[in-house]
Amino acid sequence: MTRSVSIFGATGSIGQNTLDLIRRDRAAYRVVALTGGANVDQLARDAREFGAEVAVTCFDDRLDDLRAALAGSGVAVAAGDQALIEAADRPADWTMSAIVGAAGLAPGFHALRHGRTLALANKESLVTAGPLLMAEAQAHGACILPVDSEHSAVFQGLVGEDMSAVERVIITASGGALRDWPLEKLAEATVTDACAHPNWDMGQRITIDSASMFNKALELIETREFFGIAPDKIEAVIHPQSIVHALVGFSDGALIAHLGAPDMRHAIGYALHWPERRHLPVERIDLARIATLEFRAPDEVRFPALRLARDVMATRGRAGAVFNAAKEVALDEFLAGTIRFTDMAGLVDATLDALSREIRLTDAIDSLETVLQTDHLARTRASELAKQRQEQTA
Ligand code: NAD
Ligand code: MG
Repeated sequence: MTRSVSIFGATGSIGQNTLDLIRRDRAAYRVVALTGGANVDQLARDAREFGAEVAVTCFDDRLDDLRAALAGSGVAVAAGDQALIEAADRPADWTMSAIVGAAGLAPGFHALRHGRTLALANKESLVTAGPLLMAEAQAHGACILPVDSEHSAVFQGLVGEDMSAVERVIITASGGALRDWPLEKLAEATVTDACAHPNWDMGQRITIDSASMFNKALELIETREFFGIAPDKIEAVIHPQSIVHALVGFSDGALIAHLGAPDMRHAIGYALHWPERRHLPVERIDLARIATLEFRAPDEVRFPALRLARDVMATRGRAGAVFNAAKEVALDEFLAGTIRFTDMAGLVDATLDALSREIRLTDAIDSLETVLQTDHLARTRASELAKQRQEQTA
């Protein structure tokens, strides 16, 4: 029997790795929806190859190009945010949520309503709306499987275990491209510097978030929301080799670690075949060749994003949506060259502070609309604050 699959963010790093696995067992799958952004040539190529029902670009102004590229293919085309939601409303047995940023929330949320499986790479969904997303899955009998490598590793470490015996969860961080830079030089880091990730080949945004540790900050919150583990039981540790992805510590003192090559097809494949394990085309690690696995505590002066994540986990409510939106704006500003690498955390902190005086951050997220409103408000304030700071330093 073929399985129907949809991939949101198909043209990105996670999306392409997902298609790579599906391509290897082509006859087992029927592709429903593929979505992308500006890269409509890639989207059209994949939609043709996999005979997708529909291809959607998030940009209205790319619709004509997408239509032209898919002329005569029989693939339906559409564009815009509403079209993404309509694509998510087409039932699929398995949906990959791999859009980057808060934009990934709404399609994933809609996909859950079919009561099937949502493979969640879009960590921003859990950061901005964790309780809402988990409740929606439960209400519809849907299953969410983590695709972030650390969370897939924790998930695998918990199979067959009693949650009450879990003492702690440790997620690892490579430390990113600037891990070994002298602290005083960090302010000068350029986009190119921050993009030179030592181990993982990922999209540009998450690569820079790795260098600033905002990615790990999001992942701490993601751990808290996905597994329902108290924040004081969640730790992050620097592990330059990126071979151990996470460890789960139990009440008897045992630590169960998950090891694997730094290749996202591990976590994607686990979610694709779960609850079975199937052969995956990933490198087998040779421990004797690697020889050394190092671990060290992250320096919170170098990585202030980690402290901000602790504050967000303590506040919960709308703080995650504010944190994520402010972080996305800070990253945009850094990419545009208007703020320095080391200014990103300050901007996120200032936005959280400003919003805490405008709305009650502890109020629960009760609907998708609340998330989107909070996200919008936080983006507006973060942009204003960035502009003010720029004027002050000009
Ligand atoms: P990417 O930048 O390579 O791809 C992003 C995809 O989202 C593309 O298809 C793009 O067209 C689409 N997109 C971008 N903006 C959009 C918008 N506003 N609306 C709709 N679609 C939009 O990103 P990626 O590295 O594949 O990451 C995707 C998600 O997976 C992120 O949430 C990231 O944190 C998470 N993740 C990625 C990795 C990795 O190894 N790349 C690992 C763990 C988690
Ligand atoms: Mg990760």
